[in-house]
Amino acid sequence: MSEEDKNNDKNQDYCYLCRRTEKVAGKLIQLPQGIRVCQDCLQKSINLIDGGNYPFFGGIMDPTMFAGGMPPVGNIPPMGGRRAKEKAEKKEKGEGTGAAGQIPVVPAPHRIKAQLDEYVIGQEQAKKAVAVAVYNHYKRIRDDASDGVEIEKSNILMLGPTGSGKTYLVQTLAKLLDVPLAITDATSLTEAGYIGDDVESVLSKLLAAAENDVLRAERGIVFIDEIDKIAKKRNTNSRDVSGEAVQQGLLKLLEGADVEVPVGATSKNAMVPMTTISTRNILFICGGAFSGLEKVIKERLNKASTIGFSGDLRDKYDNEKNILKYASAEDLREFGMIPEFLGRLPVVCTLEDLSCDMLVRILTQPKNAIIRQYKKLFAMDEVELNFEPEALAVIAERALLKKTGARALRAILEEFMLDIMYEIPKDETIGRVTITRDYVEKKGAPGIELRQGSIRALPQQHG
Ligand code: ADP
Repeated sequence: MSEEDKNNDKNQDYCYLCRRTEKVAGKLIQLPQGIRVCQDCLQKSINLIDGGNYPFFGGIMDPTMFAGGMPPVGNIPPMGGRRAKEKAEKKEKGEGTGAAGQIPVVPAPHRIKAQLDEYVIGQEQAKKAVAVAVYNHYKRIRDDASDGVEIEKSNILMLGPTGSGKTYLVQTLAKLLDVPLAITDATSLTEAGYIGDDVESVLSKLLAAAENDVLRAERGIVFIDEIDKIAKKRNTNSRDVSGEAVQQGLLKLLEGADVEVPVGATSKNAMVPMTTISTRNILFICGGAFSGLEKVIKERLNKASTIGFSGDLRDKYDNEKNILKYASAEDLREFGMIPEFLGRLPVVCTLEDLSCDMLVRILTQPKNAIIRQYKKLFAMDEVELNFEPEALAVIAERALLKKTGARALRAILEEFMLDIMYEIPKDETIGRVTITRDYVEKKGAPGIELRQGSIRALPQQHG
């Protein structure tokens, strides 16, 4: 049979793109909807399906894409090289930023939330709100508004006590989406010309997080923490350079503007090269504890509940724990945030105070939970580490008293794990350690099992 005959053999599978048969083109790869492509055309097919971007979420390929077998890695050019090439091509064509090729493929909100659930305990409302906002945000970037309907940006304002997981939620989100993230503290920002960082410095950080890839930075996330600290100062006669002026300065960034940003530095000077970043597609998330806002909310709610026929108890909301969830734009304005600023953060979500039960779950359940980390460290020495549930409850109760949310957990654990981590590697016969309630309360010793199975006690905690 001649080569041509072989190619025309109708009984054989052939590549959907180059029409070569499997015999000629090599093993074909199964794509959805019965489409099969050869490995050489794989790159082309990925481009077709995703407009030039890999169908990744968090850098993981969807396994159903390659039901016929995973493509050999050698056929896919390295990310950096491809990105650089795309970037150069786009620059050449003069295309705007945020073209479909650079936008991450974002799964449906329930999937985003399910992924967040693996790391962030509780905070259901916040996770839901963030998942929907992010989903819409990246849909908005894909949309060219050719029908005249322009989708507005869904920047997010997160209210929640310290240590409740605001930063952690955003960090997890950025990791899952595989987009660059810049975290900045609003307290370090000041009006241009004054000591402190200009608002544009947040974009320099984002650019650095994107390894100076402007296109990647332009679809990243900026998290501005301690946003409540830039509330308008009351009763002040001097210029409010770190409060209202910073809010004013942030307005144009939140809305979308082309901003000149120094590359590789946070402040502009003659020696630093500059680049232009469009903030149109950057998702801004602002977070703060807003301590003092509770009082404003309670006053408003109590006033409303005592007026009219539905008059309620005057102190109905006095004992309400998560009062922040009732925050309205009016309360935030009263707190000192300017209306224009609030208007640019349309999605408002609240994180709850962590309860004792949530703290116990934070200790054990997230994929990278602290207890799991300790277990791993011990497993490296072939020692099994266990915690009695009562011991975990005591740790959580102690953390609760410190009023710094989940942040207190590590410090408390470190305190009594130090002796254990010091003593255990000394004795190679130890096979299992159990942290008991008594040990955490400094009343007894941890349970120690030797590899042979006999039990013995370590000396009590010092101090
Ligand atoms: P903040 O709300 O002040 O930004 P963080 O997000 O920085 O608090 O939380 C501090 C640490 O506590 C995080 O790094 C994370 O390990 C842990 N943590 C806080 N809240 C949660 C949560 N809901 N689920 C899992 N871990 C949490």
